[in-house]
Amino acid sequence: MEEIKNRLRKFADERNWDQFHTPKNLVMALNGEIGELTEIFQWLDSDNSKLENLSDRDLARCKEEIADVFLYLVRLADKLEINLIKEGNNKIDINAEKYPIDLSKDNAIKYNQRDE
Ligand SMILES: [Mg+2]
Repeated sequence: MEEIKNRLRKFADERNWDQFHTPKNLVMALNGEIGELTEIFQWLDSDNSKLENLSDRDLARCKEEIADVFLYLVRLADKLEINLIKEGNNKIDINAEKYPIDLSKDNAIKYNQRDE
């Protein structure tokens, strides 16, 4: 993660692009890339969105757009001094509490929509 973060810093510094990399602009760019990723799947039915059914062309596009999303997310987290690995792990812990196995196995009911 540090290597990618530093490569992105260097890439931006060499182009004097740091001035454009405000959190607001990075969120906009991230959303644009998520839109490009969404476009690949938007007319596929669920079965055709699975790896074994994706065309080579669509899989190649996924790789490119997922990389774009990842890079903007890393850059955004860097600008906000957020440790992505630490926060990702923290969120998994929070989700494990929200979704205990005995209440969540084999269903996709949101934690606040359960009948209790
Ligand atoms: Mg893209």
